[in-house]
Amino acid sequence: MLVTLTCFSPPCPWRRSDLNIFFDVDYTLQSMDGSLRPGARAVFEQLVSDGHTIFIWSGVGLRTADVERHDLEDLVSGVYQKPLEDFEAGLETFGVPVRPDFVIDDYPEIVTEFGGVVARPYYFRQFKDTEMDRIYQIVREYVEYGYSDEVGFRPGVNGAG
Ligand SMILES: [Mg+2]
Repeated sequence: MLVTLTCFSPPCPWRRSDLNIFFDVDYTLQSMDGSLRPGARAVFEQLVSDGHTIFIWSGVGLRTADVERHDLEDLVSGVYQKPLEDFEAGLETFGVPVRPDFVIDDYPEIVTEFGGVVARPYYFRQFKDTEMDRIYQIVREYVEYGYSDEVGFRPGVNGAG
């Protein structure tokens, strides 16, 4: 049975403010030409400062070199390969040591599984892209209310993110 809890008087005791947040790389954090999405570092700093832990994963392998190239390694706690199907089993297959609480990805299926935000794809370098700030606000709403009305938010199949 699916039960959706709604929080009317935050902070909500069943909500964690120390989420394991997993970011995809291609078209989520970086464009086709490999440039970093505007605001990425500032939002990572804010998320870590808020108590969250950031992980990077990608369906095409370990992206440590990209994390280093963007000078984000001080804010990232792990880099993993991302399962592209059979997500739950894939965590074990790829040795992901923690359960993703909140997933940010331009690929909707994995977000629907774990909960998080389907990011607007970042294909081309755009200085005016504000998606990272929008993602941050959704994380804030999720932590406070357990939900967000923003486009792209997914609660996860178990309703708890
Ligand atoms: Mg992607």
